[in-house]
Amino acid sequence: MTETLLNRRKAAIPAGAATSHPFFVDRAEGSELWDTDGKHYVDFVAGIAVMNVGHRHPRVMAAIAAQMDRYAHVAWPVQHYEPYVAVCERLNAVAPINDAVSFLVNTGAEATENAVKIARLATGRSGIIAFTGSFHGRTNLALSLTGKVAPLRASYPHFQPGIFHIPFPIPDHGTSEEESLRALDHLFRASISPDQVAAILVEPVQGEGGYYMAPPAFLQKIQQICSDHGILFIADEIQSGFGRTGKFFAIEHSGVEPDLIPVAKGIGGGLPLAGVIGKRSVMDKVMPGSLGGTFAGNPLACAASLAVFDIIRDEGLLDRATAIGQHLTTALARITARTDVPPIGAVRGLGAMVAFEVFKTEDHSVPDSDTTKTIATRAAAEGLLVLPCGYWGNTIRIAPPLTTTDKLLDEGLNRLTRALTGL
Ligand code: PLP
Repeated sequence: MTETLLNRRKAAIPAGAATSHPFFVDRAEGSELWDTDGKHYVDFVAGIAVMNVGHRHPRVMAAIAAQMDRYAHVAWPVQHYEPYVAVCERLNAVAPINDAVSFLVNTGAEATENAVKIARLATGRSGIIAFTGSFHGRTNLALSLTGKVAPLRASYPHFQPGIFHIPFPIPDHGTSEEESLRALDHLFRASISPDQVAAILVEPVQGEGGYYMAPPAFLQKIQQICSDHGILFIADEIQSGFGRTGKFFAIEHSGVEPDLIPVAKGIGGGLPLAGVIGKRSVMDKVMPGSLGGTFAGNPLACAASLAVFDIIRDEGLLDRATAIGQHLTTALARITARTDVPPIGAVRGLGAMVAFEVFKTEDHSVPDSDTTKTIATRAAAEGLLVLPCGYWGNTIRIAPPLTTTDKLLDEGLNRLTRALTGL
C-alpha cells in the first residue's frame, strides 16, 4: 500500500512539496498513529507542535461537528460570526499583553507577515531585525525574515530589503548574550539607525533552529532597547505557544510584554488557524479592512480552537507540559550518556520542547547532520516519530502532544533507545 502511494506521490507532486518521511498516515488517536500498512507509531512530533491536545480529542471533534451542523464557511470580511469573536477574546485573555486585541488568519507565515506589516504601518519605519537560526515561514517575506540558512533560505535568495539578522545567543555554540547585543549595537552604527527600525522579531524558543531558549535576561534587554528607540517587540510564538513550554506563551518565562504575538499551530487543534495578538494602540494604527482574508478565521477552525482553550485549562496541560519536559529530559540524559550511542550534547528543553544534538564520533565538536537523519529514520522504523532540526541539522527535537501519558512517553523512549544504539 505504502509503496503504491509513494509512486503516486512521485508522479503527482513536485519535490518542493514532498516530505522525507516514507510512509502515509492511515489514522491517529491521542499520541499514536498508524500507517497505511498498519504499522504503529508513538508520536513525538504532534504534527510539528500542532496537536498539543492530541489527535482526535473528543471535545475538538464534537465542537467541529456542532459547528458543521450550522455553517462551515462565511467570509469574516463580509459576514461576522460569533466563534471568531470568541477566539479573539480568549487570545486577548491569555496573552501577556495589556489591553490586547487580536485578529485571525490561516497559517504561521501569514501571521508573521501580518505582524511585520502592522509594525511597519504603526511605526512608519521599514527596518526589521530578526535572528540567525530563526524560522518564520515559507512565503516570500517570511523566508526573508528567516535566519536559518539551510535548507529553505539557501534555496531562495530573493530576499526583501530592510531585513537584518543578528546572532541568536547560543552560549553552547560560542555566541554569548553579550556578543548578540554587541552585534545589534554594531548594526545600529553601521547599517541602520534605530529610528528606522520598526520591529525586532524573535522566537522566545527557536523552533526549527533547534529548540534553543533565548535567555530571559537577553529578552529583557532587547525589550529595553526596543522601548528606548520606539521599536516594536514581536514574539513569534507559532511553535512555542499554546502551552507547549509550560506557560501559555514562552515569552512569559521572561516577563517581557511584547507589542505583537503571531500565533498558529496549536491554536486550531489540527485545523488551519493562526492569528496576531497585539497592543490595541499598535493594532489601531492599521486602516480598517486591511487585515484578514477569505478563509481567515474559518468557523470550523474557530470552533476547534475554543475547545482547545477549554481542554488546556480543564486538563491542566500547562503543568502537564512541564511534567512531560522533566520526564523526557531525565530519561534522555540517561539514554544519551550510554557508551553505545553516538556522541550527544546536553539535553535541553523548556516544557515539552525537548532536544538533543548529535556530533561526529571522530570529533565530538563537529555537528553530524547525517547521523541525525539516520536516527530519525531508524526511529520511524522502530515506530517512533521524531524530527531533525537545528542550525546545523544535527538536532533531534521532541514535541509530543501535551496529553501523552507517562506510559507512552516511556514506550517512545524505549523505541528511541533502540534507534540510537548499534549505529
Ligand atoms: N514561525 C515559527 C516559529 C514556526 O515554527 C513556523 C512553522 O514551523 C512558522 C513561523 C510558519 O508557520 P506555517 O508553517 O504555519 O506557515
